[in-house]
Amino acid sequence: MMFRSLLIANRGEIAVRVMWTAKCMGLRTIAVYSDADATAAHVAAADEAHRIGPAAPRESYLNVDAILAAAKESGAEAIHPGYGFLSENAAFAEACAAAKIVFVGPPPKAIRAMGLKDRAKALMAKAGVPVVPGYLGEDQSPALLAAEATKIGFPVLIKAVAGGGGKGMRKVDAAGEFAAALDGAKREAKSAFGDDRVLIEKYVSRPRHIEMQVFGDTKGNAVHLFERDCSLQRRHQKVVEEAPAPGMTAAMRAKMGEAAVKAAKAVGYVGAGTVEFIADASEGLRDDRFWFMEMNTRLQVEHPVTEAITGLDLVEWQLRVAAGEALPKRQEDIRARGHAIEARLYAEDPDKGFLPSVGKLEILRLPEQRNGIRVDAGVREGDEVTIFYDPMIAKVIAWGEAREGAAAKLAAALANTEVAGVHTNAGFLVRALREPDFVAGEIDTGFIERHSAQLMPIRTGPPPHILARAASFIVEERAALHRGGDPWDAHDGFRLAGASTETIEFLVVEKKVAAKIAHRRGGGVSVSIDGREFDTRAHAASAARLSSGAIAVMEGGETWMLSLYDPFAAADAVGAATDRVSTPMPGKIVQVLVKPGDAVKQGQPLAVLEAMKMEHTLSAPADAKVASVDVAPGDQVTDGATVVRFEMEKAA
Ligand code: ADP
Ligand code: ADP
Ligand code: MG
Repeated sequence: MMFRSLLIANRGEIAVRVMWTAKCMGLRTIAVYSDADATAAHVAAADEAHRIGPAAPRESYLNVDAILAAAKESGAEAIHPGYGFLSENAAFAEACAAAKIVFVGPPPKAIRAMGLKDRAKALMAKAGVPVVPGYLGEDQSPALLAAEATKIGFPVLIKAVAGGGGKGMRKVDAAGEFAAALDGAKREAKSAFGDDRVLIEKYVSRPRHIEMQVFGDTKGNAVHLFERDCSLQRRHQKVVEEAPAPGMTAAMRAKMGEAAVKAAKAVGYVGAGTVEFIADASEGLRDDRFWFMEMNTRLQVEHPVTEAITGLDLVEWQLRVAAGEALPKRQEDIRARGHAIEARLYAEDPDKGFLPSVGKLEILRLPEQRNGIRVDAGVREGDEVTIFYDPMIAKVIAWGEAREGAAAKLAAALANTEVAGVHTNAGFLVRALREPDFVAGEIDTGFIERHSAQLMPIRTGPPPHILARAASFIVEERAALHRGGDPWDAHDGFRLAGASTETIEFLVVEKKVAAKIAHRRGGGVSVSIDGREFDTRAHAASAARLSSGAIAVMEGGETWMLSLYDPFAAADAVGAATDRVSTPMPGKIVQVLVKPGDAVKQGQPLAVLEAMKMEHTLSAPADAKVASVDVAPGDQVTDGATVVRFEMEKAA
């Protein structure tokens, strides 16, 4: 029998998304939240909400006792774990069962069987599913691992057996780099999963990540809901996902689907799961060149693309199966239509190695949900992106009859997305989706790196029409402030007595740029920069003032931050930019690679920072001599802490 209440042991967009279906099915929805999330979107979306602890996940969203206490207090009959957090935790599933609460997920035994990558691979090989060749042994001595890597043949991939989310993974191209890569992978694995064991795999050439959505029920049925292609990745993590996979033949789909169902059946799978394969696309997709990588025993971030092409609600299926019902459809009744693409909009800085960007979402204008555009968001304007949780802002999904149309639609939707307060990858995604190779379906996991020159943000500062927009914004703002009066009477220093023109100076990439503003009779302004005139009404860019005082101008998914020129601040900024390296975010220093007196070359690694469970290398911005090292391994550091100072040539 269908339960009547559901607690969602998660946060953000997935909690909001699960609640939507639960509500449609008439269930009472119960949210849990940490102190950082007391006013979060998922709390507002629920019928009731319970506090489970402080911001740190370990004390809240990973706190089994607190979640079960909230379930008891609220009388929740079932718990949906979402993804991440406790979704693949067998002990949590068991604790739910012991508390007589339905866990919306597979049986603990299936979670365990697939939980460690090495055991899962061994199990799959035995069941006759093709697996990536490699070393899966117990012996973890560095010398043996290095010898195994050589035996497999470079390039190889080192993976944490307990890995997930691309953490604890290193590609190694040659024997000489193996030892250092192993160190890094083990450190990251230890910190993220508390388990530093690794396996080694052959690095597949022209790799494409293609996964199969599977579903099982308690009656012994198992089906697949076709594939998703998740080859567009950075840091081994997905950014763009789509269904169907470009270039996939019906024969290969049938073979991969069969392998995935076999994998699910081999572990007695119940509920939603994903079987991930890696395919060698060096000669196009071929049905004898794909291998099992891992199985994710939960709902996946990218499930909306499957929903878009099949017209099915995967969360509804999860809830029905968890309530003991049979799968709603048989394999032959599951059909796909059209093409769907999802992009993950992240608070991150593409220009800084996709490092998460924390701060307040001062402006958040997501695309409208119509004409085949779906937006799954877990944050609203004014919310904070913190260091505690995944920095995903939203997922934008586009559906079209054909791939090209879906890609164009998604690019347009993202180009209309306006975010200020944190960096985002919106502009990057727009360029990726419009990149001719992407449009042609020429994708693999190296796509982003290969096209980085075209995909990365423009570093040379905003184009003149963006500056013009900022200048006209300042005039509009003044007009609004002095509504009823004459904006020219504003006492803000710009006024030129009686004149109808003025000059506003911006600081742009450490350079002063002047915008000359002429006021038109009957309203409106024209702005000229370097003698070129702009009618700012002809541009779609929008502008806003942020709490820092800076003006954000947004266009095409890109956000330009402009500040007015201030000679004193400018001198400071230039000095600060070159005489030291600071931490881009809070974290822990795990390695220091230089000492005072060292001469370093541009790009040379100086220290390794661990933040959000990933290692980030801090490198020298230019050739320089190290004057001091201000951190030591093990130090907890804040955002903007000085790591290394350089000797500065004294200006004459
Ligand atoms: P997928 O294969 O669907 O991309 P991932 O393995 O990347 O899934 O993880 C799913 C989501 O859960 C990601 O957004 C990831 O950042 C998040 N996540 C993974 N592990 C944790 C964790 N321990 N705590 C919080 N979020 C997590
Ligand atoms: P995670 O648990 O972090 O998701 P996976 O084993 O699924 O780890 O691998 C993550 C990504 O790394 C894959 O999507 C793929 O891009 C890349 N990858 C994994 N194994 C290989 C391989 N053997 N060859 C090439 N790329 C691989
Ligand atoms: Mg994976």
